[in-house]
Amino acid sequence: MDIALGIDIGGTNTKIGIVNREGEILQKTSLPTSSENLSHSFLNELQDEVDELLNSNDDLTLSGIGVGAPMANSRTGIVSNAANLNWEGKVNLREFLQKRYQVPVFINNDANLAAVGEKTYGAAVGMQDFIVITLGTGLGGGIISNGELVQGPDSLAGEIGHITVRENGRHCGCGRKGCLETYVSSSGIKRTVYKLIADRNDSDSLLAKVLFKDLTSEVIYNAAMKGDSIAKEAFKHTGEILGLQLANLVMFTSPRAIFLVGGVANAGDLLFEPAKKSMESHLLRSCQNTVKLLPSKLDDNNVPILGASALVWESVDHMIANSVDI
Ligand SMILES: [Zn+2]
Repeated sequence: MDIALGIDIGGTNTKIGIVNREGEILQKTSLPTSSENLSHSFLNELQDEVDELLNSNDDLTLSGIGVGAPMANSRTGIVSNAANLNWEGKVNLREFLQKRYQVPVFINNDANLAAVGEKTYGAAVGMQDFIVITLGTGLGGGIISNGELVQGPDSLAGEIGHITVRENGRHCGCGRKGCLETYVSSSGIKRTVYKLIADRNDSDSLLAKVLFKDLTSEVIYNAAMKGDSIAKEAFKHTGEILGLQLANLVMFTSPRAIFLVGGVANAGDLLFEPAKKSMESHLLRSCQNTVKLLPSKLDDNNVPILGASALVWESVDHMIANSVDI
């Protein structure tokens, strides 16, 4: 059976999955992402896990490997100074895996993988123009235009979490201030909750006694469902800021749909309604009611593995399409 290997390298864990053409994960394993800053030892451990997974079934033909990693350059295959992986300098992940397994290797960041995954297995099958926004600890964007991923020369296209939305606004992990992800992400909505509690001096809120480190978008969601006004306001505020930026994004590539994926997006209408309303109110009139705002169809936990495997199938299809009529 033809299979693709999807690898998702995260700050804490690295997940590996064997994925078939239909996007089913047949087998999955994980290993800790090395906390020592030695990418070399991690690569050897990764290789051991992959070998074990591939050897567990004789019937598998590996078509290729897709990898998701922060700070990954899809053109060079290099991960550069990925601070949250503790990797110093440059690591040529593609070269390492290609040498070992002798198959095509593709590498990209999580948000781009989410877009390719949605296009291959999810709610965007058959769509040529759409944007995926991932809402985790940060905010990522994957843009598909004319059926192709928009990447730019350094794979930085779509880093919309770092669009400045407030002059001298909240401090961002990138070293600047006022980036979109400091407002719209799981950490962004936490900051908003605390600010609202302070501004309104609302010690009655269900969230007033929750420690900052214990606050998650799920805790805020549960409080909102119990009618907590601070929690509801935090989602409304987050949705409004997001919606305005979605309206701006629409003017770049004119997408047919925008998908929201992950953590904060799981709040459903609490986020989608204010975001949709804000987007529509800021859109050019001729674009109003033309862009759908939708949830992803993919399973949250597996989005990077699925997206990574989708890169492999895309390339296989591309090769088939270009090898006819010889
Ligand atoms: Zn930033």
